[in-house]
This record gives sequence, C-alpha cells and structure tokens, in this order.
Amino acid sequence: MIELRNITKDYQGRNGTCRALHDISLTIPQGQYVSVVGASGCGKSTLLKIIGLMDPDYGGEYRFCGSSVRGMKDRLLSDSRRKIGFVFQDFQLIERLTVYKNLETASLIRGGKSREAEIRNALRRVGMEHKTESYPDELSGGQKQRVAIARAILSKPEVIIADEPTGAVDRGNADAIMQLIRQIHTEDHTTIVLVTHDPEIARCANRQIRLKEGTVVQDEISVE
Ligand code: ADP
Repeated sequence: MIELRNITKDYQGRNGTCRALHDISLTIPQGQYVSVVGASGCGKSTLLKIIGLMDPDYGGEYRFCGSSVRGMKDRLLSDSRRKIGFVFQDFQLIERLTVYKNLETASLIRGGKSREAEIRNALRRVGMEHKTESYPDELSGGQKQRVAIARAILSKPEVIIADEPTGAVDRGNADAIMQLIRQIHTEDHTTIVLVTHDPEIARCANRQIRLKEGTVVQDEISVE
C-alpha cells in the first residue's frame, strides 16, 4: 500500500539546508494500523506530508498502491489522493457550516456526492447523529474530532492519516477517539497511519515506528 524507499527531505532555511528525513525505507501493508512517534522536530509531519501525497519534493522513491508517485499523471494522483482520509489535530471544520453541511461540502470538494443516508450513517458511526444541525462552536473538542473522523470515513478511504488526532482534547476524550479509530480499523480494515508525540497513544496501534532526528530508530509490531 505504502512503500517508501530511501526517502530524504531537505528544507532550505535561512541558515542553509536542513535535512528533515534521512534515508527512510518503510513498507506499510494494506490494513495495517501504524503509529509514528517521536519528539517534536523529529520529522513526523514531514513524513506524513509525503505519505499523504501533499509534498512531491523529496529524494528517493515512494510507491502508493503499487504506483510510483513521482511518475503519476495528474488523474492518477487525484484518484490516489481520494483514497486518503485526513484527521487533523485542529479538526479543520468549517465554522460557518453545520455538522451535516461540513460533511456534505467535504464530499463535494473531493468530487463525490454523498447521499444523505451516507452522511447520516457516518455521523451515526461516530456517535454524532444527534448533532447534525449543530455548528462546530457548539461542540466540545472530542465531539469536533468525531465529526472530523466522520468526514474522513465518508469517502470510504483506504488509508486514514491522523496527525496528532488527540492533541487538542483531554485524556478521557483522547481515549474515546482512540477507541473510535480502532473500531474503524477493525470494521473497515482501513490502513491507519497515526502521528503522535504521546507514547501511550502510539501504543494503541499494532505497529509503532519511532523517529529520531529524521531516521527510524525503532519499528515494532505488537502482538494482538
Ligand atoms: P515534527 O512533526 O516531528 O515535529 P517536522 O517534520 O515538522 O517535525 O520537522 C522536522 C525538521 O524539519 C525540524 O528540524 C524542522 O525545524 C524542519 N522543518 C520543518 N518544516 C520546515 C520548513 N518549512 N522549513 C525549514 N525547516 C523545516
């Protein structure tokens, strides 16, 4: 599903070049639940941007669903992007739209057209069907993240990329969000790549990859 070969990433800063990723090689098979953990600045977001097809400027080779990303024509690249659902730390909901409209709009932007029943079903799965007409500022952080997860699963993605999904919620809500992600993984067999700086959250995944200064220093699969 996700194959990274000798990936490097350099940023050009005012004081010269900063190498954020050094020679990363990783294969994430379809249906795996992986966490990427490490201290701030170790390269987690940089790696996620590459995996999420948001940054084409890297060294090495990235193959997504069997195709080399660098050689992808625009059409294949947008089809590939549609296979990925994103969940962000800050939810990224549109404040002036209701929960229902947030999901409907996201679906339209992705070039799909979800039926009302699908939107309601996604909201039911995350326990937010009673809040369809609420606005984001009427929701708690945990509820906002549930809506963001509903938005991500609406397009039936093959991969969910979650960037610090529990970073802006309290511990109780964090546990509930992690349970929800686990449930989606189990029910839909979605590949999950979750970035966190929190080792306890990282342990919720079946495979833990630890980054340090842009290299993989640990890669462990836990027994289920
Ligand atoms: P993390 O997500 O683990 O906190 P990042 O991937 O954001 O780490 O950053 C990795 C390294 O790359 C850091 O040293 C950071 O300073 C550097 N970096 C990230 N983004 C940029 C950028 N746009 N320009 C220059 N350096 C950057």
